[in-house]
Amino acid sequence: MGLKEGVIGVVEKVLNFSTAKATRVEVLSDEFRLVEWESLGFRKTDWKPGDKIQIGLSLQFRTYTPVSLDKKTGKMEILAYFHNPDSLAGTWIRSLKVGDKFQYFGPRGSLAFNECNFPNIYFFGDETSFGVASNLRKAKPEANIHFFFEVSNPSSAKVVIGKLKLGDIGLVQKESEDSHLKKIILGFQNKQIDYKNSNFILTGKAQSIQVILPFIKKESVPSRNIKVKAYWSVGKKGLD
Ligand SMILES: Cc1cc2nc3c(=O)[nH]c(=O)nc-3n(C[C@H](O)[C@H](O)[C@H](O)COP(=O)(O)OP(=O)(O)OC[C@H]3O[C@@H](n4cnc5c(N)ncnc54)[C@H](O)[C@@H]3O)c2cc1C
Repeated sequence: MGLKEGVIGVVEKVLNFSTAKATRVEVLSDEFRLVEWESLGFRKTDWKPGDKIQIGLSLQFRTYTPVSLDKKTGKMEILAYFHNPDSLAGTWIRSLKVGDKFQYFGPRGSLAFNECNFPNIYFFGDETSFGVASNLRKAKPEANIHFFFEVSNPSSAKVVIGKLKLGDIGLVQKESEDSHLKKIILGFQNKQIDYKNSNFILTGKAQSIQVILPFIKKESVPSRNIKVKAYWSVGKKGLD
């Protein structure tokens, strides 16, 4: 063992990460994997839909959203997307196989869906938000949830979305200079929307959220009814 590995090993012990083993890796499309993990720690976890988990190796972590967690079996699933096969997460996800072990901490709170209690919910996100969208759909079976996604590869995204059974979806292909966001904004600027009695949840790319958010705020929506959580940002690594 080299000095670097030794130091990392000591730090890991001090920080008390847990280890999870991949027990199923399902290739949903080129860039999407549904991964099942097993860990004794999941048997003791109080998980809520919308929570996040950080997974990684050698003190480098990336954040994901459990789409299910079964305390009885100690199994958890995440829906992982990679935007770049050669990024840190892209390398992990692409080469992941059953039996691989990763470290994790969490799950812990991120998006509190129990605070979204209006019958209408308007949700924005991208490929990284499919997992949390699935959580929301399952957590709020009675709600009218209107999903809007910006995606790079619609045909690949449709394969995954089809499995999630989300219901009402607007899927828009990303265009240069973000001109596609006009179509998404139209979804949030609809005369049918009862702005004061709806919840708005914005996830995914930080820069897209920044474009859409003012159009919602303009309608005098109380800030407690808007939830914002950026999942990635141009030029930043490993948002938490
Ligand atoms: C709370 C939370 C929950 C999340 N849940 C999920 C989930 O369930 N499933 C999932 O797949 N992802 C999820 N993500 C997003 C995921 O953590 C990021 O996509 C991850 O950081 C990518 O790691 P990376 O090593 O590929 O790129 P990084 O090293 O993190 O980023 C390098 C560069 O790549 C670019 N980049 C990063 N992400 C993207 C992207 N998606 N598309 C295009 N360019 C990008 C940026 O310019 C960035 O500067 C979540 C993030 C957060 C904060």
